[in-house]
Amino acid sequence: MPYNYDDQNIFAKILRGEIPNETVLETDHTLAFRDIHPQAPVHVLVIPKGAYVCHDHFAAEASEAELVDFMRVTARICAMHGLSPGDGDDGFRVIANAGTHGVQEVPHYHLHILGGRPLGRMLEPA
Ligand code: AMP
Repeated sequence: MPYNYDDQNIFAKILRGEIPNETVLETDHTLAFRDIHPQAPVHVLVIPKGAYVCHDHFAAEASEAELVDFMRVTARICAMHGLSPGDGDDGFRVIANAGTHGVQEVPHYHLHILGGRPLGRMLEPA
């Protein structure tokens, strides 16, 4: 079933400039900004500028330019914040919540980049 994108979601409003955000990095296809309720010393949200609801929607339908740009921005965010294990840094976690079981609150695709402290195990037991 095709995704229906709700253009009244809060990240759509951020992209239209209707509400403010703390931008970390912006490119032609991608915006990265600080989460308003950070869960770690570094908590950056990376979103495509296109109207994608969640990860599989973006992965299936975005252009190659959008996909590459998005991934390169995530790498730049990690490098900017000293999170890259390849540079000897302590690492990070990326999370993309989707749908009901994923407990996605904002229906515009976003990747959380979290770091700056030990983050514990990935999931609590069900
Ligand atoms: P999710 O549960 O993956 O949909 O997470 C949505 C995230 O968006 C949460 O971590 C919120 O703190 C964050 N958030 C909601 N509104 C804003 C906003 N206006 N600016 C920045 N982050 C926001």
